[in-house]
Amino acid sequence: MARATTTTTGSDDPFEAVSDFFESSTWDLIVTLLWVAAIALWLALAVWTFQDARRRIRQPALVAACTLLGLVPFVGPLVYMFLRPPEYLADARERELEVIALEQRIDGLRCPDCDFPIESRFVACPSCLRKLKDPCVRCQEPLDPTWRICPYCETAVSPAFSPLHAERERERDRDRMAATAQDPDPDPLPQ
Ligand SMILES: [Zn+2]
Ligand SMILES: [Zn+2]
Repeated sequence: MARATTTTTGSDDPFEAVSDFFESSTWDLIVTLLWVAAIALWLALAVWTFQDARRRIRQPALVAACTLLGLVPFVGPLVYMFLRPPEYLADARERELEVIALEQRIDGLRCPDCDFPIESRFVACPSCLRKLKDPCVRCQEPLDPTWRICPYCETAVSPAFSPLHAERERERDRDRMAATAQDPDPDPLPQ
């Protein structure tokens, strides 16, 4: 800046204009603005690292460590991006709840008489002794009363050997008869 006053008349140096520019206050201003932008970007990346870590990591100490890493100019946030947990805590929690709900739906079976928790393979209620299923006559696997054959060994379910099955069949017949009695003119079958 001090030289600017001494080189106003000389034009023999072709690089003089360039060197003048780099010594001018305009260049100083540009350098200052670049510094401000770099510092703003550095701080923004550090804040972003902190906020992102808080959404992905449960332990406060680890979040603090990630924030410190995020404070390393520009390289820190990049390294964090490679190492961060892939999933948000909220998403992980939602998935956990879905799994719990699914498990409850699977083993949420209860005895129809006493509401005691039962498992799908129980043949009788351990609490009230109500018969729940009949075992297959051949392989002894517990059979659902609605099954017509044993799905494990393909043995036909005979009502004679399966009182529950026979009862279910009788119920089905009764329902069918009640339905036809209520609706004496059912819709004609399609041709
Ligand atoms: Zn029971
Ligand atoms: Zn069987």
